[in-house]
Amino acid sequence: MIFELPVLNFEKDALEPHISARTIEFHYGKQFRLHINNLNALIDGMRITSVDLTTLIKESVDCSGVLFCNAAQVWNHRFYFEQLSPKPKTMPEGNLFSAINKTFGSFEEFKNRFDKAAISLFGSGYAWLSQKDDGNLIITQELNAGNPIRKNYKPLLTCDVWEHAYYLDYQCRRVDYISNFWNVLDWNVIEKRIEN
Ligand code: MN
Repeated sequence: MIFELPVLNFEKDALEPHISARTIEFHYGKQFRLHINNLNALIDGMRITSVDLTTLIKESVDCSGVLFCNAAQVWNHRFYFEQLSPKPKTMPEGNLFSAINKTFGSFEEFKNRFDKAAISLFGSGYAWLSQKDDGNLIITQELNAGNPIRKNYKPLLTCDVWEHAYYLDYQCRRVDYISNFWNVLDWNVIEKRIEN
């Protein structure tokens, strides 16, 4: 086993009522685990013993292939679950807050634009906040297993808008999932990502 399911930083019911224990059971316990298992099986079949996930995602030629999709889904889910907390820091500070203000004018405007990206993404994928080489931030929509590292951006935050992320709790109300997502997003984690 090259890749293992990372430890969840909270109990599976800790994000309720925003994200239910049942959603965590399926999304983290089954969906994420499935991508880990698939990726390990693929790597095992290639008879290699180590793989750098970021390089693999960045340099894959076939972005609809099974290797890219599972590798990127492992990366994306690790990133998604790591930033969630039952006791989150609710507002960014420091360099991150400055960068948000510089790019978007205000925190509220950033949230409006991010919401719009997450809500309007048609089908499965992720909304991302990333940092560009010039220090400015950018919001992007990536379909399916897409990841902004392929565009040479540094990912800071992601919202998984695959139906499996919210359907058990919100059915077709993706808007409600996204508005509650902010209640469990830990800005402390995002601040560390921009400093890293
Ligand atoms: Mn997911």
